[in-house]
Amino acid sequence: MLPFPIVDVNKGCSLLVLLVLTGLAAPGWGNDTDVAVGPRRVKQGDVLALTFPLRAAEGVAAVGEFVGRFHDRETPVFPVAGGVGVLLGVDMEDVAGTSDFVLERRKADAPVTVARVAVTILPGDFGVQKLSLPQTQVDLDAETVERVEDEQRTMLATMRPVTPRVWKGEFVLPSEGSVQRTFGLRRVINGQPRRPHTGEDITAPSGAPVLAINEGTVQLVADHFFSGKSIVVDHGLGLYSMYFHLSAVTVHPGDRVAKSQVIGAVGASGRASGPHLHWGVRLNGARVNPLSLATAVASVADNLQ
Ligand SMILES: [Zn+2]
Repeated sequence: MLPFPIVDVNKGCSLLVLLVLTGLAAPGWGNDTDVAVGPRRVKQGDVLALTFPLRAAEGVAAVGEFVGRFHDRETPVFPVAGGVGVLLGVDMEDVAGTSDFVLERRKADAPVTVARVAVTILPGDFGVQKLSLPQTQVDLDAETVERVEDEQRTMLATMRPVTPRVWKGEFVLPSEGSVQRTFGLRRVINGQPRRPHTGEDITAPSGAPVLAINEGTVQLVADHFFSGKSIVVDHGLGLYSMYFHLSAVTVHPGDRVAKSQVIGAVGASGRASGPHLHWGVRLNGARVNPLSLATAVASVADNLQ
């Protein structure tokens, strides 16, 4: 198993933070607490773990009744020792500033807010990558544009379902190669701003094994214009991992894969300048830095129920 390197992202925030929500224990909780508790800070594109202590009688047994909300995204809630936990994915392009994360309890009539946490999003300070390419490689013909849009729709649809959690414990790196720290790079090609880089690149020789970063179910195997031979794995609770530019794929849609299982091989398929693994993670629709899963999950891994 390849443990994550120690990352300085979120350093100091990796301890399990118990947000003491006194309102939860009070009779008749379910009224909007209207109290901002334990404000948190997180960088664009990072994952933030939050845990909420609940009374056993009202908490763990009823975990399915809870849901988190942040911006326009729903965040599933999972049981942890003594309460519930949430992995909040902050999208790389979420606007910097402070918004409330809201923990709601679903009721027959209307959802009730049980906790609010002020979450301040800090700028990701992503670098800029300027590239010069022959314009013929940049401009896509109409047919290719249509293909690319269709493939993007397929990708998004693949990662929409929220299934039960199968990820367990900490995550591993998907390759032994060299991590390039390219998440979030703003790319400028021939002077034109392009989409930011949504994943982490790991350079490794063609044919090097690619491992599943945690237990999950293979949701998609495809050969796309930009990402080449690609695999998407569903780890549950809206957490998906993507593995692009592969030279070989050794799994099929529907396969259950174990943590560290070999699922393919590094390559340069699709639009790639050389052999490397592009590794992406989506968390409830947010494009997040795969490396930031390490600290976030480490803070709840021991308390998962
Ligand atoms: Zn990449």
